[in-house]
Amino acid sequence: MSKFRRIGVLTSGGDAPGMNAAVRAVTRCANANGVEVVGIYEGYKGLIEGNVKVFGPRDVSNIINLGGTSLYSARCDDFKEEWGMQKAKKTCEKYKIDGIVAIGGDGTFRGATDLSLRGIPCIGIPGTIDNDITATEYSIGYDTAMNTVIEMVDRLRDTCESHARCNVVEIMGRNAGYLALNAGIAVGATAICIREIPSSSNEEEIIARIEKARADGKRNFIIMVAEGMGSEFGPALTEKIEKVTEIETRFARLAHVVRGGSPSVRDRLMGTEMGAKAVEMLMSGQSNMVVCYRHGEIRTSEITWALALDKLFKSEYAGYKKADIEKLLAPYSAEDREIMHQFCATKLEKMKALYNIAMEISN
Ligand code: ADP
Repeated sequence: MSKFRRIGVLTSGGDAPGMNAAVRAVTRCANANGVEVVGIYEGYKGLIEGNVKVFGPRDVSNIINLGGTSLYSARCDDFKEEWGMQKAKKTCEKYKIDGIVAIGGDGTFRGATDLSLRGIPCIGIPGTIDNDITATEYSIGYDTAMNTVIEMVDRLRDTCESHARCNVVEIMGRNAGYLALNAGIAVGATAICIREIPSSSNEEEIIARIEKARADGKRNFIIMVAEGMGSEFGPALTEKIEKVTEIETRFARLAHVVRGGSPSVRDRLMGTEMGAKAVEMLMSGQSNMVVCYRHGEIRTSEITWALALDKLFKSEYAGYKKADIEKLLAPYSAEDREIMHQFCATKLEKMKALYNIAMEISN
């Protein structure tokens, strides 16, 4: 018999299509097992302020098809402070919340691990269009965002073709290049610039690719740039391409528009499966864990392991501030460290292999 009578669910950090499907699944799966659910509005801010509502199955009706998050989201620096966490804990005690499902990105998981360590069992679900959580191959929102990107860039491509133009397109993804790389392949981009592959942003090579393709009769040139390249990179590249090639070149930043919209089938299903798994985990007594998707299956990891892995990947390969790797990996055995290094290296190799295919066929 589960000790859980009531659990909370929140969405935090950047919103992502499919978060609603996860909230719905958490609510209905818990209810089906005799556990009450409390919706916590605006993430950790709502937890601190007590902005909560007891949910029944009807409270999550008609949301599976909606973009954004019906629980709303907020950034909350107060939650990073001890007093903020203690206040959040008091809200849990007041509303008899025995455990929490937290849907979001790495920041949200940091909050969840902090709360777990203070006695409130938490399970994380990856929800971010950036797909930048190293421990999972998939995070809710990524598929919808990719579909939005290709829909918009296909339109740019139509007009580029008509006018023999080039369009440099900056795509969200924070420092991660997954969205730019995968959507770039799907729109037939001539070049794709991502941080994980430093040579991908070599301007001379990009221009040479454009000129070679033009000589071969190509009229449209799409250059995908990951947000992580920095806000100056895309506009500067646009100017340089036009100056050197004399091809009319425009810059477009897709930004937050990519975050919205009705979730795709994949995000509705992933949200549902991950939501159901999170409830099962809480009820079986697990805490401080995150739901992941690896090798075609829903799996789980310790949040602390997922966060360390994430820092390792981002610091080694994605140009984040170099973490003190020794300190970061100190709690882990030599064998575990090797597994973590290998995991990150494999992830990068897969990206490189995909990038190489993209460049081979982009002419
Ligand atoms: P995401 O979850 O998408 O990565 P953020 O990084 O903005 O988004 O994190 C979302 C929220 O998680 C923050 O506003 C904060 O309330 C909480 N959070 C982030 N980092 C920490 C931390 N180190 N300790 C506690 N809570 C954190």
